Amino acid sequence: MKISKVETIWCAAGASPALTFVRLHTDGGVVGLGETYYTPLSVASYVHEVLAPYVIGRDVLRDGSIWEELYAQSARRGAGGTDMRALSAVDLAVWDLRGKLLDVPVYVLLGGNDKPSGVRMYNTCAGRTYAAAPAVGRGESAEHDDLWRWRHAPAELAAELRDEGFAGMKVWPFDEAAAEDQGRRISAGALRAGTAILEAIRGAVGGDLELMLEGHGQWQIEPAAQILRAVEPLSLQWAEDMILAHDPEALRTLAARTSVPIAASEYLMGRWQYRAVLSSQSISYLHLDPTWCGGITEAQRILALASSFGVVCSMHDCTGPMNLLAGLHLASANRIVGYQEVVRGFLSDLYPEMVDTTWLRRDGRMIVPDAPGLGGELSDRYLARPDLIRSVTE
Ligand SMILES: [Mg+2]
Repeated sequence: MKISKVETIWCAAGASPALTFVRLHTDGGVVGLGETYYTPLSVASYVHEVLAPYVIGRDVLRDGSIWEELYAQSARRGAGGTDMRALSAVDLAVWDLRGKLLDVPVYVLLGGNDKPSGVRMYNTCAGRTYAAAPAVGRGESAEHDDLWRWRHAPAELAAELRDEGFAGMKVWPFDEAAAEDQGRRISAGALRAGTAILEAIRGAVGGDLELMLEGHGQWQIEPAAQILRAVEPLSLQWAEDMILAHDPEALRTLAARTSVPIAASEYLMGRWQYRAVLSSQSISYLHLDPTWCGGITEAQRILALASSFGVVCSMHDCTGPMNLLAGLHLASANRIVGYQEVVRGFLSDLYPEMVDTTWLRRDGRMIVPDAPGLGGELSDRYLARPDLIRSVTE
């Protein structure tokens, strides 16, 4: 069975306008679904202009090195960014197809389920409208969504998440301060205000809920070190992307100045960037996003690398349903993965607007679906939207 056409779908007016779906159609009628997030126009253009000619006619079960052939299209042009996200989306669809053609869930193809009781999940405290925000980390905050609540009622929110069974919660109380002076300095007042939110959470739930700090890569080293010094008594599970992870030496400098475990970063792409960061011995947790890092194929390699360093991994999601499904299959198949990130507002409200699937949660863990492939399909309701922007190459 061969791929006969490549389709991209996005919805500029929808609740998640940065999301691009990629569908690979086969001559036998089976369809594979993938996705990526950010710059949908550019991603769709790249998929059709560059990748589609190398995908059409391929047999995803028999042909080897499809990933390598797609990666070669950008490797000599400074690979990274749009091209890797587009490749990631196509790769997800390839794996979805493989699972469907063989009638098994993707985790079976990746080596089986290491976590039959589920993957430990933590809640990233964004609101339902967060995905529509143009700026990273600064999504709209509707009253009483999780983004509003950690700012205005952090103790109450923390107790609720603990009672709902989450392993942890993640917040970003220093982001506004970073925006004030482009991450070059933090005032004593902003340091106190951000720390007070974390203290309120810790005061409410003690050690019953893990607490993660997100920095969205917005700080320079010195203010990042000041923040970490201030929050050191709060036993954070990790501080994530306080600085951009693209410079392993800078990460090592920051890590040497704090006892807070450092996490990085879903902003990296390809096993080579991850190897450089792992080799710097600066991180305690490795984060990756299968719809950015190079797809499921590359995520498997990155997870193998991380396991050789003994660094526990966490699958990123604050983006889209197929990313979360891919993360669950990878987390289930790889022992080194300790966490799956979720946004509960996306699970309840956003993802069901686009994709039919069953989100199974048990005792604070997420269970990987047992349906063939990745386990999610674009819903009839979504596909019937008159404002979808669809392009096809055949
Ligand atoms: Mg993050």
